[in-house]
Amino acid sequence: MPIRQLSETMINQIAAGEVIERPASVVKELVENALDAGASRVEIVTAGGGLNLIRVTDDGSGIPERELALAIARHCTSKLTEDINDIRSLGFRGEALPSIGSVSRLSIRSRTAASDSASEIGIEGGRVLPVRPAAANRGTTVEVRDLFFATPARLKFMKGERAESSATSDVVKRIAIAFPAVRFTLAGSDRSTLELPAADDSAAGSLRRVAQVMGADFPANSIALDAMRDGVHLTGHVSIPSFTRANALQQYAYVNGRPVRDKLIAGAIRGAYADVLPRDRHAVTVLFLTLDPAMVDVNVHPAKADVRFRDPGLVRGLIVGAIRQALADAGVRAATTGAAGMMAAFWPGAASYYGHGGPANGHRSYDAAYRASGPSGFDPARSSQRPLDMGFEGADFEQRGLRENEQAAFDAGPLASADARAGQDEAAETLLGAALGAARAQVHENYIVAQTRDSLIIVDQHAAHERLVYEALKNALHSRPVPSQMLLLPEIIDLPEEDAERLALHSETLARFGLGIERFGPGAVAVRETPSMLGETNVQQLVRDLADEIADNDTVDTLKERLDRIAATMACHGSVRSGRLLKAEEMNALLRQMEATPGSGTCNHGRPTYIELKLADIERLFGRR
Ligand code: ADP
Ligand code: MG
Repeated sequence: MPIRQLSETMINQIAAGEVIERPASVVKELVENALDAGASRVEIVTAGGGLNLIRVTDDGSGIPERELALAIARHCTSKLTEDINDIRSLGFRGEALPSIGSVSRLSIRSRTAASDSASEIGIEGGRVLPVRPAAANRGTTVEVRDLFFATPARLKFMKGERAESSATSDVVKRIAIAFPAVRFTLAGSDRSTLELPAADDSAAGSLRRVAQVMGADFPANSIALDAMRDGVHLTGHVSIPSFTRANALQQYAYVNGRPVRDKLIAGAIRGAYADVLPRDRHAVTVLFLTLDPAMVDVNVHPAKADVRFRDPGLVRGLIVGAIRQALADAGVRAATTGAAGMMAAFWPGAASYYGHGGPANGHRSYDAAYRASGPSGFDPARSSQRPLDMGFEGADFEQRGLRENEQAAFDAGPLASADARAGQDEAAETLLGAALGAARAQVHENYIVAQTRDSLIIVDQHAAHERLVYEALKNALHSRPVPSQMLLLPEIIDLPEEDAERLALHSETLARFGLGIERFGPGAVAVRETPSMLGETNVQQLVRDLADEIADNDTVDTLKERLDRIAATMACHGSVRSGRLLKAEEMNALLRQMEATPGSGTCNHGRPTYIELKLADIERLFGRR
């Protein structure tokens, strides 16, 4: 067959193969167009899962009659100027409408503010129908019928009405989060109606929209983020560690208002929560990144959901740092607000004081209390005290070593030298001013009861110590080379040449983490040493994971995260079990270490390590206030 130019319709159908995967992709493109046109209301109707009908109506700028034919012509757009690096709209490729029109029966009815009547154009399987007058209000209605009638092969891949309807709901929710001031409705014979009333563009409005989409309990169980680094601004909300899901579907991310699915962002979220969540649980997050459009490439895939950052390390660091900081703050919050649950449990009346139902309300009442009383003045993450030496200097990472050091960690408390009774009283008096106060007693062999000037503190000693040991282990891990063990025989790993090259480039960093790796001819690396902490490990898998990660993000965090996880397990085994009796000095030493250690407000599993009950609250319990 001779070479020939493909027909316009054929070209559009090929493009449709990429851009229009299923009904939800049509909805995505049409809603994006409505938003780009400045709409304040977007109404979506579907039938038959979107395969029979999709209709999107907006009150945006409209399309002038003379431009209707261009709107459905390939590579025609009103959005892109001469600079591909400066994309500020959701659309820019000028191919959605012609692609949809090549595989369905499409009609566009539109009216601009300047015109006193509407016009309509149609396109069926690529065949353009003439423009004709129509009746409509200002704005645009795009109707798509019989999607994929012209490409039956694609039709066979559709999953059924229910699945397609729900994919469409997801698309609408995802995009609606980024446009809180726009009212969205999604209705049809194939679904229950989704209504998202307009909020506004303020932070409160944004959170209201997030709650509409993600559920009313999310705001109360999340922490706000607001961080800035080198021109990249991050805002949003992330769940507290006790509020998780079994999958990562409830993680929404936006770059300059565009919904994206990005491995780098997902990885950063995982990394940020690695310390406080079990492996199989996922945080619920909404992250908005705002940056100069020139610092991010959105022209990666026709569906525009992929992005490439100019500086992936910067973005990752910003996300991880901001979430960790927020979680550290939340540790304090868990502690302060645990008191609310206690109040509610003791005395149901207390719950209404906190503005919510009762103990059954769980986190919600906790949160209300947090708002009412504010965080306690003490924030371990911001504590100016330097972390105390936990006695791990020079420790090997063996279990036995840990046990010995655990003992060391409790010696030399502040009271150890105060033998005179008077001296002791004086020291105790000073301790009352400390954030976690002076230890008074240990009850049920696990709870330290302490007293500050205006509150009662209860510490879960096992949880607290586990966290301290973990933080100390991690500190040791990241401040000097990790001990490694020589392999009897070097492990040779065959890899694509680029992967081998990338690993070699990072060999110095990897060596710091105890992984001795070097080139072994073309397309292979040899591993001679592995981190002792890992014990018997699947070296092949580890190295391949690392190669993937370097390719994706240019980091070797996989190894760090694995080591951190092992540190967590070791900490769990090595810490003071409940049931161990502590002397006053030991208890006070533990409190001081908690004050000095960032993140010590929650245990490795995200539960609070201590709760604080204000004297005023205790008085309230007894009806004295
Ligand atoms: P793109 O969005 O990439 O520009 P499309 O094929 O989606 O490409 O749309 C082509 C053009 O049609 C847009 O640039 C815009 O000018 C116009 N258009 C499409 N939908 C609407 C709408 N709902 N309101 C106003 N103009 C629209
Ligand atoms: Mg578009």
